[in-house]
Amino acid sequence: IAQEGSRFDTHLFDAKLDELLSTNGQDSFTSYDEVYESFDSKGLQENLLRGIYAYGFVKPSAAQQKGIVPFTKGLDVIQQAQSGTGKTATFCLGILQQLDYNKVECQALVLAPARELAQQIEKVMRALGDYLGVKVHACVGGTSVREDQRILSAGVHVVVGTPERVFDMLRRQTLRSDFIKMFVLDEADELLSRRFRDQVYDIFQLLPLKVQVGAFSTTMPPEALKATRKFMNKPVRILIKCDELALAYVKQFYVNVENEEWKLETMCDLYESALALTQSVIFVNTNRKVDWLADKMRSRDHTVSAAHDSMDQNTRDSKFREFRSGSSRVFITTDYLACGIDVQQVSVVINYDLPTQPENYLHRIGRSGRFGRKKGVAISFVTSDDKRMLADIQKFYNVVVEELPSNIADLI
Ligand code: ADP
Ligand code: MG
Repeated sequence: IAQEGSRFDTHLFDAKLDELLSTNGQDSFTSYDEVYESFDSKGLQENLLRGIYAYGFVKPSAAQQKGIVPFTKGLDVIQQAQSGTGKTATFCLGILQQLDYNKVECQALVLAPARELAQQIEKVMRALGDYLGVKVHACVGGTSVREDQRILSAGVHVVVGTPERVFDMLRRQTLRSDFIKMFVLDEADELLSRRFRDQVYDIFQLLPLKVQVGAFSTTMPPEALKATRKFMNKPVRILIKCDELALAYVKQFYVNVENEEWKLETMCDLYESALALTQSVIFVNTNRKVDWLADKMRSRDHTVSAAHDSMDQNTRDSKFREFRSGSSRVFITTDYLACGIDVQQVSVVINYDLPTQPENYLHRIGRSGRFGRKKGVAISFVTSDDKRMLADIQKFYNVVVEELPSNIADLI
């Protein structure tokens, strides 16, 4: 009977929790509704502001207007916002504002579910914190453990990493947790999914009791939300709706190509005129098509780099470096690599194929126009069969994609 009773209680507890976590159950959350429309109004230190403006950000995104300040105040934060809304800078700025730069000890730990993502966060953190002299290190699998040990023992302020490597470093005490006061989960839904959850808990167990926690994610399924209860204390929950997207930073066009056969010609035309001098990324839907298109463009004397996920990591890295260094101006790839691409000069994204999921559209075009100075441009090739997907994308993001004007060169 006792057993049955306890099972019943657990059940009741879960139901109660669900109720608490439903939108009506505000009790378990701290409310924080203020919106700060400029970077200057957030009480950030001078040298952090310099970093923000040097990075090219002019105005905070909606996610940043709501999320940065509560985080800098030391509150636990759950931010749920579509991809492309600028969540990375939200937590990077929240962390950078709170670090004690006189103490070269790890004070913030950021976890991400993928290596490329962790490395990208590392770069953003380092760039934004440039004038503060922040020391950041990415601890990810596939890199030398020795090197990690060397850098960590020399001292850093922030570690960004994937769970496995971070846990390893903590366990060996190469990474000391004594001074960690901020703990961030980026793509928290993924980190709290079955695949990573236990590892994340294990890491959390090794952190000081009073750690501030941030969870950032596109989706927050009830399971993940429930999991955050284990280590968050009355978090501020910030939801950003679709229409507040950083999509506003990118000008979006389509070109009607009628059918597949016309795409290549159309694209070469673009490259021979408007796009000749820009750095651009071209997305297609399959690995084979990456190779095919790279060949076609090379045979027309374009210098291109191309990478996809059936290449090994080293090859991918070297292709990407080629592009980043500017020795090629065109990078051809698939959705798989969309999130890892962060190149300052990219101003144009071409969807040679429309993505098969509306969600991926943003991952792709978010690669352009990230530096605020001039809007990025995204150009999607649309065949007759694609019209429907284009309509879906416009509806999904509540945006209007216009037909490419003939003066496109002036816009880039
Ligand atoms: P998320 O993690 O929410 O999917 P990211 O943090 O990767 O989004 O940001 C998406 C893109 O928007 C990036 O290219 C980033 O540089 C750009 N971005 C973010 N905040 C701003 C801003 N305030 N001004 C201009 N561009 C921004
Ligand atoms: Mg993100």
